[in-house]
Amino acid sequence: MTNITPTKEENSNHNNCNHNDIHQNHNPHLHHEPHPHDVFHEHESKTKKYIILVLALFMIILIIFYFIFGQHLFGIIEGRIISQQFTNLTTVYSNNNIDNNYTIKFTQSSFDELQQYYFANQKTEVSVCLIGLYSNNFYTVNKLYYPKIIEQAFEHVTFQPCPEDTIIVLHTHPYKSCIFSEQDINSYKQNRQSSPDVIIALMCEENRFTLYRE
Ligand SMILES: [Zn+2]
Repeated sequence: MTNITPTKEENSNHNNCNHNDIHQNHNPHLHHEPHPHDVFHEHESKTKKYIILVLALFMIILIIFYFIFGQHLFGIIEGRIISQQFTNLTTVYSNNNIDNNYTIKFTQSSFDELQQYYFANQKTEVSVCLIGLYSNNFYTVNKLYYPKIIEQAFEHVTFQPCPEDTIIVLHTHPYKSCIFSEQDINSYKQNRQSSPDVIIALMCEENRFTLYRE
Protein backbone atom coordinates (compact mmCIF):
# COMPACT_ATOMS: atom_id res chain seq x y z
CA MET A 1 0.00 0.00 0.00
CA THR A 2 2.71 2.41 1.00
CA ASN A 3 4.48 1.66 -2.19
CA ILE A 4 1.51 2.63 -4.20
CA THR A 5 1.01 6.05 -2.64
CA PRO A 6 4.22 7.66 -3.87
CA THR A 7 3.48 6.38 -7.33
CA LYS A 8 0.11 8.07 -7.20
CA GLU A 9 1.74 11.24 -6.02
CA GLU A 10 4.28 10.93 -8.71
CA ASN A 11 1.52 10.49 -11.21
CA SER A 12 -0.39 13.42 -9.86
CA ASN A 13 2.77 15.50 -10.00
CA HIS A 14 3.17 14.59 -13.59
CA ASN A 15 -0.39 15.56 -14.23
CA ASN A 16 0.36 18.98 -12.91
CA CYS A 17 3.30 19.34 -15.19
CA ASN A 18 2.76 21.39 -18.25
CA HIS A 19 3.19 18.68 -20.84
CA ASN A 20 2.42 21.05 -23.62
CA ASP A 21 5.53 23.01 -22.87
CA ILE A 22 7.59 19.88 -23.04
CA HIS A 23 6.02 18.84 -26.34
CA GLN A 24 6.35 22.29 -27.81
CA ASN A 25 10.04 22.20 -27.19
CA HIS A 26 10.36 18.95 -29.06
CA ASN A 27 7.92 19.61 -31.84
CA PRO A 28 9.59 21.68 -34.55
CA HIS A 29 6.22 22.64 -36.10
CA LEU A 30 5.20 24.53 -33.00
CA HIS A 31 8.28 26.72 -32.82
CA HIS A 32 7.36 30.36 -32.69
CA GLU A 33 10.53 31.52 -34.35
CA PRO A 34 9.98 31.22 -38.14
CA HIS A 35 12.52 28.98 -39.68
CA PRO A 36 13.60 30.25 -43.16
CA HIS A 37 12.66 26.89 -44.65
CA ASP A 38 9.13 27.06 -43.18
CA VAL A 39 8.65 30.61 -44.46
CA PHE A 40 9.56 29.42 -47.94
CA HIS A 41 7.05 26.57 -47.73
CA GLU A 42 4.38 28.92 -46.45
CA HIS A 43 4.91 31.22 -49.46
CA GLU A 44 4.88 28.27 -51.81
CA SER A 45 1.60 26.93 -50.46
CA LYS A 46 0.04 30.42 -50.60
CA THR A 47 1.09 30.75 -54.25
CA LYS A 48 -0.39 27.32 -54.98
CA LYS A 49 -3.65 28.36 -53.32
CA TYR A 50 -3.80 31.51 -55.46
CA ILE A 51 -3.14 29.53 -58.64
CA ILE A 52 -5.88 27.04 -57.78
CA LEU A 53 -8.25 29.90 -56.95
CA VAL A 54 -7.53 31.69 -60.25
CA LEU A 55 -7.93 28.44 -62.23
CA ALA A 56 -11.21 27.67 -60.46
CA LEU A 57 -12.52 31.18 -61.19
CA PHE A 58 -11.46 30.83 -64.82
CA MET A 59 -13.33 27.51 -65.11
CA ILE A 60 -16.44 29.01 -63.51
CA ILE A 61 -16.34 31.96 -65.95
CA LEU A 62 -15.95 29.55 -68.88
CA ILE A 63 -18.92 27.47 -67.71
CA ILE A 64 -21.07 30.60 -67.24
CA PHE A 65 -20.07 31.82 -70.72
CA TYR A 66 -20.97 28.44 -72.18
CA PHE A 67 -24.43 28.48 -70.59
CA ILE A 68 -25.13 32.09 -71.61
CA PHE A 69 -23.75 32.05 -75.14
CA GLY A 70 -23.65 28.29 -75.65
CA GLN A 71 -22.34 26.89 -78.87
CA HIS A 72 -22.90 30.23 -80.58
CA LEU A 73 -19.78 31.72 -78.96
CA PHE A 74 -17.63 28.73 -79.87
CA GLY A 75 -19.11 28.84 -83.39
CA ILE A 76 -18.00 32.47 -83.73
CA ILE A 77 -14.49 31.64 -82.54
CA GLU A 78 -14.22 28.64 -84.86
CA GLY A 79 -15.71 30.64 -87.75
CA ARG A 80 -13.11 33.35 -87.29
CA ILE A 81 -10.33 30.77 -87.52
CA ILE A 82 -11.56 29.11 -90.72
CA SER A 83 -12.78 32.23 -92.55
CA GLN A 84 -10.67 34.76 -94.41
CA GLN A 85 -10.65 38.35 -95.57
CA PHE A 86 -9.82 39.98 -98.88
CA THR A 87 -6.92 42.40 -99.08
CA ASN A 88 -6.71 44.50 -102.25
CA LEU A 89 -9.69 42.52 -103.60
CA THR A 90 -7.64 39.31 -103.34
CA THR A 91 -7.36 36.31 -101.07
CA VAL A 92 -5.61 32.96 -101.24
CA TYR A 93 -7.50 29.84 -100.25
CA SER A 94 -5.52 26.71 -99.50
CA ASN A 95 -7.16 23.35 -99.56
CA ASN A 96 -5.43 21.32 -96.89
CA ASN A 97 -6.55 17.98 -98.32
CA ILE A 98 -4.85 18.45 -101.65
CA ASP A 99 -2.26 20.97 -100.52
CA ASN A 100 -3.30 23.38 -103.25
CA ASN A 101 -3.44 27.16 -103.21
CA TYR A 102 -6.18 29.02 -105.06
CA THR A 103 -6.09 32.76 -105.62
CA ILE A 104 -9.42 34.58 -105.80
CA LYS A 105 -9.51 38.13 -107.10
CA PHE A 106 -12.50 40.47 -107.57
CA THR A 107 -12.72 43.44 -109.86
CA GLN A 108 -13.39 46.59 -107.84
CA SER A 109 -16.89 47.03 -109.26
CA SER A 110 -17.95 43.43 -108.58
CA PHE A 111 -16.63 43.59 -104.99
CA ASP A 112 -18.41 46.91 -104.33
CA GLU A 113 -21.63 45.52 -105.78
CA LEU A 114 -21.39 42.40 -103.62
CA GLN A 115 -20.87 44.43 -100.45
CA GLN A 116 -23.82 46.68 -101.28
CA TYR A 117 -26.04 43.66 -101.89
CA TYR A 118 -24.84 42.15 -98.60
CA PHE A 119 -25.73 45.31 -96.63
CA ALA A 120 -29.12 45.57 -98.31
CA ASN A 121 -30.04 41.99 -97.33
CA GLN A 122 -29.40 41.57 -93.64
CA LYS A 123 -32.74 40.08 -92.63
CA THR A 124 -32.51 36.86 -94.63
CA GLU A 125 -29.80 34.84 -96.30
CA VAL A 126 -29.31 35.54 -100.00
CA SER A 127 -27.30 33.87 -102.72
CA VAL A 128 -25.15 35.23 -105.53
CA CYS A 129 -23.45 33.49 -108.43
CA LEU A 130 -19.99 34.96 -108.99
CA ILE A 131 -19.20 34.94 -112.69
CA GLY A 132 -15.70 35.15 -114.14
CA LEU A 133 -12.71 33.21 -115.33
CA TYR A 134 -10.87 30.25 -113.87
CA SER A 135 -7.44 29.15 -114.99
CA ASN A 136 -4.44 27.52 -113.25
CA ASN A 137 -5.83 27.85 -109.71
CA PHE A 138 -6.65 31.52 -110.34
CA TYR A 139 -10.24 32.77 -110.02
CA THR A 140 -11.16 36.24 -111.36
CA VAL A 141 -14.64 37.45 -110.45
CA ASN A 142 -15.92 40.21 -112.72
CA LYS A 143 -19.72 39.94 -112.65
CA LEU A 144 -22.53 39.01 -110.28
CA TYR A 145 -25.63 37.04 -111.14
CA TYR A 146 -28.60 36.85 -108.79
CA PRO A 147 -30.29 33.45 -109.08
CA LYS A 148 -34.00 33.10 -108.49
CA ILE A 149 -34.50 32.42 -104.82
CA ILE A 150 -36.91 29.59 -104.06
CA GLU A 151 -37.06 29.94 -100.31
CA GLN A 152 -35.25 32.10 -97.79
CA ALA A 153 -35.15 32.78 -94.06
CA PHE A 154 -32.77 34.25 -91.49
CA GLU A 155 -30.63 31.10 -91.50
CA HIS A 156 -31.61 29.44 -94.72
CA VAL A 157 -31.73 29.99 -98.48
CA THR A 158 -32.49 27.76 -101.47
CA PHE A 159 -32.08 29.02 -105.01
CA GLN A 160 -32.15 27.96 -108.62
CA PRO A 161 -28.89 26.74 -110.22
CA CYS A 162 -26.21 29.26 -111.19
CA PRO A 163 -25.27 29.85 -114.86
CA GLU A 164 -22.46 27.79 -116.43
CA ASP A 165 -19.83 30.53 -116.28
CA THR A 166 -20.14 30.70 -112.49
CA ILE A 167 -16.81 30.18 -110.73
CA ILE A 168 -17.98 30.74 -107.15
CA VAL A 169 -21.41 29.97 -105.69
CA LEU A 170 -21.90 32.32 -102.76
CA HIS A 171 -24.59 32.72 -100.15
CA THR A 172 -24.73 34.90 -97.08
CA HIS A 173 -24.97 33.80 -93.47
CA PRO A 174 -26.10 35.75 -90.40
CA TYR A 175 -23.44 38.11 -89.01
CA LYS A 176 -20.34 36.24 -87.76
CA SER A 177 -21.81 32.78 -88.54
CA CYS A 178 -18.87 31.75 -90.69
CA ILE A 179 -19.24 27.96 -90.65
CA PHE A 180 -20.81 26.01 -93.52
CA SER A 181 -23.80 23.92 -92.60
CA GLU A 182 -23.84 20.22 -93.38
CA GLN A 183 -26.47 20.97 -96.01
CA ASP A 184 -24.15 23.54 -97.66
CA ILE A 185 -21.40 20.95 -98.02
CA ASN A 186 -23.84 18.26 -99.21
CA SER A 187 -25.23 20.45 -101.97
CA TYR A 188 -21.65 21.37 -103.00
CA LYS A 189 -20.83 17.67 -103.29
CA GLN A 190 -23.93 17.03 -105.38
CA ASN A 191 -22.95 19.76 -107.86
CA ARG A 192 -19.24 19.00 -107.85
CA GLN A 193 -19.35 16.37 -110.59
CA SER A 194 -20.83 18.76 -113.15
CA SER A 195 -18.56 21.68 -112.15
CA PRO A 196 -15.42 20.37 -110.42
CA ASP A 197 -13.60 23.73 -110.21
CA VAL A 198 -16.43 25.66 -108.61
CA ILE A 199 -15.77 27.02 -105.13
CA ILE A 200 -18.56 27.54 -102.64
CA ALA A 201 -18.34 30.63 -100.49
CA LEU A 202 -20.26 32.07 -97.63
CA MET A 203 -20.17 35.71 -96.66
CA CYS A 204 -20.58 36.34 -92.93
CA GLU A 205 -19.32 39.93 -92.62
CA GLU A 206 -18.79 42.74 -95.07
CA ASN A 207 -15.26 41.45 -95.71
CA ARG A 208 -15.18 37.96 -94.23
CA PHE A 209 -15.72 34.81 -96.25
CA THR A 210 -15.40 31.08 -95.77
CA LEU A 211 -14.43 29.18 -98.89
CA TYR A 212 -14.56 25.51 -99.75
CA ARG A 213 -13.61 23.26 -102.64
CA GLU A 214 -12.27 19.75 -102.80
ZN1 LIG B 1 -25.13 28.14 -95.43
